[in-house]
Amino acid sequence: MDRYSKFEDAPVSSFSIKLSDKYVMCRVCERRCLLKNGEKGYCGNRVNVNGKVHVIGYGLLSAIESRPIEIKPLFHFWPNSTALTFSNWGCNFHCPWCQNYHLSFQVPDIRRQKIYPPAKLVKLALKNGDEGLCASFNEPTTQLEYLVDVFKLAKKEGLYNSIVSNGYMTSEALKALYEAGLDGLNFDIKGCFETYNRFIGALDPMVVFRNARMALDLGVHVEMVYLMITKANDWEECVHWVLKRHVEILGENVPLHINRYYPVWKYHEPSTDIGKLVKTYHVAKEEYNIAYVYLGNIGDWRYESTYCPKCNKPLIMRVGYRVLKYNVTGDNRCPYCGAKIHIVGKYVENKSPIMLF
Ligand code: SF4
Repeated sequence: MDRYSKFEDAPVSSFSIKLSDKYVMCRVCERRCLLKNGEKGYCGNRVNVNGKVHVIGYGLLSAIESRPIEIKPLFHFWPNSTALTFSNWGCNFHCPWCQNYHLSFQVPDIRRQKIYPPAKLVKLALKNGDEGLCASFNEPTTQLEYLVDVFKLAKKEGLYNSIVSNGYMTSEALKALYEAGLDGLNFDIKGCFETYNRFIGALDPMVVFRNARMALDLGVHVEMVYLMITKANDWEECVHWVLKRHVEILGENVPLHINRYYPVWKYHEPSTDIGKLVKTYHVAKEEYNIAYVYLGNIGDWRYESTYCPKCNKPLIMRVGYRVLKYNVTGDNRCPYCGAKIHIVGKYVENKSPIMLF
């Protein structure tokens, strides 16, 4: 079958529970949508048909592309590798500043879209010479069951599995991804309580930290992104709230990417002030002792590069998400002082020009 002719043809989700004759609850993300018969969930990927939740977005992909892992951004995970990156349709958040609104604000359409089988996706990654896979662009957990099937196959073929997510899944969903072979992830923390309440609909940012902590405890590599948005999460109290939770819950060695926002979609405040970003970079490093802090979307290699947390020597130089210089020993130590540098997976040579020094 390459297409669903009706919702009942789509796979049944095991991440749902029947609460009564009237309602079924989806347990994939912490929205925990209550669905009446015939009703779709907030993300548009799941529908209740006669008491069963069918995943109508299963395998309906919106994009497939090989991309450098640094662009996710994942800077400490399989450096310089490429991941076959894929996405589906819809999202469980509707952020007004979404850069991928053309995917996130569309819902799967079973009449027009075809199923991309998991085995075909894994085969394509191998054919391209990618080291792994990454589910990204929109919120990947909206098609959790597809990820589980893809990740299991990819693991068997020696590929790594990663996701870029808003981190709002249930613990049960995260565990399923881990058990299927999830190796690394990037979670986007949108800000403090006020950001979540005002812009995303009374949701709880602590869920994201809870899940990031759980992933670390399971042995999954974690990096965090904080897109600093003018008047949405850029005031001092909010910034300190995020940095404090990062250190207290995740620790100093989890990389933090502070990214610049640009006006897009329905949000038109001016781009993030560069001075504010640079100040936050220093506060994160010097006041909160976060070992690996980066500024993204500003095109300045000084803030995209990795420095030894002990002797501060530059070790990995990146420009525009390309690795230009890699000077970490084979056992992930600083060649100058011997300090441990937190890197997961192998550095992949010969995928971008390397500057010798
Ligand atoms: S995954 Fe979709 S249907 Fe399920 S709880 Fe989240 S938004 Fe609702």
